[in-house]
Amino acid sequence: MTIHTYAAKEAGEKLEPFTYEPGELGSQEVEIAVEYCGICHSDVSVVDNDWGISEYPVVPGHEIVGKVAAVGDAVTSLQVGEQVGLGWFSSSCMKCEWCLSGDHNLCQSAEFTIVGRYGGFADKVRAHQNWVFQLPAGLNPQTVGPFFCGGITVFNPIVQLDLKASDRVGVIGIGGLGHMALQFLSAWGCEVTAFSGSAEKEQEARNLGAHHFVNSRDPEAVKAMENSFDAIFSTVNADLDWESYLATLRPRGRLHFLGVTPNPTAVQMFSLLLGQKSISASPVGSPGITKQMLEFVARKQLEPMVEFYPFEQVNEAMDKLRHGKPRYRIVLQR
Ligand SMILES: [Zn+2]
Ligand SMILES: [Zn+2]
Repeated sequence: MTIHTYAAKEAGEKLEPFTYEPGELGSQEVEIAVEYCGICHSDVSVVDNDWGISEYPVVPGHEIVGKVAAVGDAVTSLQVGEQVGLGWFSSSCMKCEWCLSGDHNLCQSAEFTIVGRYGGFADKVRAHQNWVFQLPAGLNPQTVGPFFCGGITVFNPIVQLDLKASDRVGVIGIGGLGHMALQFLSAWGCEVTAFSGSAEKEQEARNLGAHHFVNSRDPEAVKAMENSFDAIFSTVNADLDWESYLATLRPRGRLHFLGVTPNPTAVQMFSLLLGQKSISASPVGSPGITKQMLEFVARKQLEPMVEFYPFEQVNEAMDKLRHGKPRYRIVLQR
């Protein structure tokens, strides 16, 4: 069997058709016939080798939705024909302390779907059964893809930080991640404040569930929020004035990073110490939390806002993500 993909042969290059022979299906593996695949900023980062971990050719695509095409001998949880999703991780060792305690996303030998493996800009993709998720009834397969990386990235800290419905939470950045964070936090019951430098996004942020909107380019407006939040999620890949955001936290508040700042971040320890505040970060969630997210979004009928491109226009879609401002996530479809 041959798998047909779109691949970058070298860093920063356009994607071109590329085929490979996957060999025999592993006993724990599931083969997915890809129907939809979201595009994430990490796809661009891996194509460009921004993190120095890329292995070429790179086949991007890790917000995958499709149908099970084949299962290995030992696969018990999924059947051929079922609608499934696959995200950033495609396998983990299943025997380290992290895998055994349900934190497979912290496994030090977990494999990324698009690094050292070929991803979902393809007609087929394979992964370990524990990282392939059945879609609950009621979810739209066309739009659910972005939940498998961007979505679980912002849902995971709701669980990790044990956020309550009574908590007041700020979200910095209303883009691919932030627009899903607003929906999740609002549906969770929190009082949600959107911070954005794009004042014209206010109405959309409110439609997505924000109760308040703060123009983050206005230092006075940020200062006015001092002592307001139990947690802040930063979804931007930018260096901001983090001291001013630490000041908006209440005692025991947490500034939590889901985006990656371009430069190292320094803060005054007194900004943390006096209110027993903290700074933290987290990756995409474990399989268990991914299942929890899927059930939650099915029950709450949440959906990312997406723009569709055909797979053949994958380079145009990548360009839009690099240079344009998609609202808010791009999905490739057949
Ligand atoms: Zn492990
Ligand atoms: Zn991603």
